[in-house]
Amino acid sequence: MELYQFAFKDRSFQTVKRFFKSLKPLEKRFYGDRPKSGFTENTVFDSELVLYNYMMKITDEIFQVGGGNLTSAEDAAIYLICFENHCALVDAGCGYSQNRLLQNIEKCGVNPNQIEYLLLTHCHFDHTGGAASLKEILPCQIVCHESEADFLEHGDNAVTAAGWYGARIRPFAVDRKLTGARETIHLGDRTVEAIHVPGHSPGSVVYLTESQGLNVLFGQDVHGPLHSDLLSNRKDYQASLHLMLSLEPDILCEGHYGVYKGKEKTADFIRSFLRADE
Ligand SMILES: [Zn+2]
Ligand SMILES: [Zn+2]
Repeated sequence: MELYQFAFKDRSFQTVKRFFKSLKPLEKRFYGDRPKSGFTENTVFDSELVLYNYMMKITDEIFQVGGGNLTSAEDAAIYLICFENHCALVDAGCGYSQNRLLQNIEKCGVNPNQIEYLLLTHCHFDHTGGAASLKEILPCQIVCHESEADFLEHGDNAVTAAGWYGARIRPFAVDRKLTGARETIHLGDRTVEAIHVPGHSPGSVVYLTESQGLNVLFGQDVHGPLHSDLLSNRKDYQASLHLMLSLEPDILCEGHYGVYKGKEKTADFIRSFLRADE
């Protein structure tokens, strides 16, 4: 892979040492005790580690650029879709690491100005807290399901769960409100399908696209949870799990549980949340 060379173009001892020194405590934990245990001029560095620090390549066109150790620990995953020069982000995280996020996007070889859409999977703060400030710096349209637009446009701290994070959501305008069960979003001459999957929240949406012959599903909170504060609905949730299974994704990009590859693995993960009695 070539992308990591951004970070380690110069692999000199001093550069690598500076790099480890610049890591935040959380990242240090992720990298294990390599920095602590010390290294010398003769140490061979695993370039994969550095690649993961900025982003994770999922296909040649799809990357994870935020979430966990890529941005802030509180962030749900942020994914970048890049079809030629037409790009979209899936979710925005909490907004605590905006500069880092932009840097990660650039490390994918993408100019943030190429981002045409911010595709929100649902209104919860760990996915949308950063949307207002992203909108100020990126020329993107914000997309979410119509049934949750109000909570974002009026900054509802309860339904967006911002209160759970001890935060307040910054309200923002939703440019495109999805209606009905399915809608198509165009990225150049490619498409992304928005599919309504209520349950975890009333306006939860998954985004489905094809990349390198693979069905890639962005299902951010497949795992739930269900809670009355979030206006969750168990019956809808179970039906939505069945719907997601029927899409037979080759790759599932989840919000908190990482990326699953292979039809069997994605199905196993989705199925694990089905209740036997429903
Ligand atoms: Zn979440
Ligand atoms: Zn959620």
